[in-house]
Amino acid sequence: MKKILNYINGQYAPPIADRWLDNYNPSNGEIYSQIAASTEEDVSLAYEAASAAFPAWSNTSIDDRSAIMLKIASLIDDNLERFAMAESMDNGKPLSLATAIDIPRASSNFRFFGHAITQFSSEAHESVGLNTMNFTLRQPIGVVGCISPWNLPLYLFSWKIAPAIAAGNTVVAKPSEVTPMTAYLLGEICTEAGLPDGVLNIVHGLGPSAGQAIIAHPNIKAISFTGGTKTGEHIARTAAPMFKKLSLELGGKNPNIIFADCDYEKMLAVSVKSSFTNQGQICLCGSRIFVEKSIFDRFKTDFVAKVKELNVGNPFEASTDIGALVSKPHLEKVQSYIKIAEDEGAKILFGGKTVKVPGSEHGYYLEPTVIEVYDDQCRVNQEEIFGPVVTLMPFETEEQAVQYANGVMYGLSSTLWTSDLNRTMRMSKKLEAGIVWVNTWMNRDLRTPFGGVKNSGVGREGGFEALRFFTEAKNVCIKYE
Ligand code: NDP
Repeated sequence: MKKILNYINGQYAPPIADRWLDNYNPSNGEIYSQIAASTEEDVSLAYEAASAAFPAWSNTSIDDRSAIMLKIASLIDDNLERFAMAESMDNGKPLSLATAIDIPRASSNFRFFGHAITQFSSEAHESVGLNTMNFTLRQPIGVVGCISPWNLPLYLFSWKIAPAIAAGNTVVAKPSEVTPMTAYLLGEICTEAGLPDGVLNIVHGLGPSAGQAIIAHPNIKAISFTGGTKTGEHIARTAAPMFKKLSLELGGKNPNIIFADCDYEKMLAVSVKSSFTNQGQICLCGSRIFVEKSIFDRFKTDFVAKVKELNVGNPFEASTDIGALVSKPHLEKVQSYIKIAEDEGAKILFGGKTVKVPGSEHGYYLEPTVIEVYDDQCRVNQEEIFGPVVTLMPFETEEQAVQYANGVMYGLSSTLWTSDLNRTMRMSKKLEAGIVWVNTWMNRDLRTPFGGVKNSGVGREGGFEALRFFTEAKNVCIKYE
């Protein structure tokens, strides 16, 4: 059976303890490969390699670093089909989605930061009268840790690694053990692109062992983490006494707020996407839909009709809109929330049941599920379900919409549908979120800051924000006569 090895110091290697984890194909529930179950010892080796590579890599010219990153990007493009197939098989997402979004975005991450580093600059402050000139020296941190989740595997893995290495750091990275395959393939691409040995080290395995060893390592000075809020809290607790720099991109329970004056057809089509793309397993999905009362009944009917048309099926079929959920435990977690909704007295308008896909009967398929809730504080409206489940609820006034939208512990993104520019401005200021999308969703310009407020995270990535995170700013003050 295929073995997913660590990538340390430019070489693929088995875990020192020779322990392995089963890797499941969510589309049929079968084990199809084995993953290195790495431990602290493997992380130590990865750290040593990264540490040894740091002096040379941090002194490599910007042009040379950039050229290698652009080469990695184009090699990912050249291997689009192979990577997309691997992502789809590992995650259960439609192959069409992996081909159109996940893998192109992974290559864009390398390309973007390969270019961005050539434009990155810092400030100078002349203290007139004091005869001093200050400039800010931005230096790479050293060895940094990058830990990513399973929902957008290579997309988010590369979102962290690319700015880290562009800025001159060396990296110890861990993808989710649930979806390690594309990170595994990335190693060979990096070698082929000429990335020096040890600049990127990829360690596979469980969060509480391999991940824990990264966050607890005393000499890994910064951690960029994307994942659940609970894990983020644990990482913050572990890292804080060591004063590590932390960027935490965490969970969300994002509102999709629909006013009667919006472009109705466009809103309807995009709302189906923002609810169910990637089986609803995107931190940015609009999982709480609030609709102005005057159009609530119309929306409810039209939305459910559109959702009924979605095709749940094998990820490799071109006709599939919704593939398999990522794992059996995750499917069970999502199902438990449908039960909670029923117990809370909410109304399941559509879905809620598992789907037996012919030929893939043991896959983790679930109908897209629409739930009407009567209390914005009920559990299904408050807790992150992270599956193909959305709630609907009407609102009467703009103030009430803001109150509902902000009435959760999360604050990652929000979507607003309206044609009123004044309302757009008022609400953009009031919504507690790192992103406000107006009349669109998941529209990403990689130069923009990305991150959440409240329990959705700390810090910003994206554009120069990511390069700032992965560098230390030093004030150099020169006195002149
Ligand atoms: P988890 O928090 O369970 O895991 C994320 C990563 O952390 C995995 O690689 C995991 O490894 C690792 N990990 C787990 N425990 C530890 C530990 N003690 N020390 C170090 N690393 C650890 O999240 P999921 O993978 O379940 O991803 C889903 C979550 O990610 C959702 O809450 C979602 O909202 C959030 N997310 C946030 C985004 C954002 O940009 N804000 C974007 C995408 C997702 P392993 O898998 O092996 O346990």
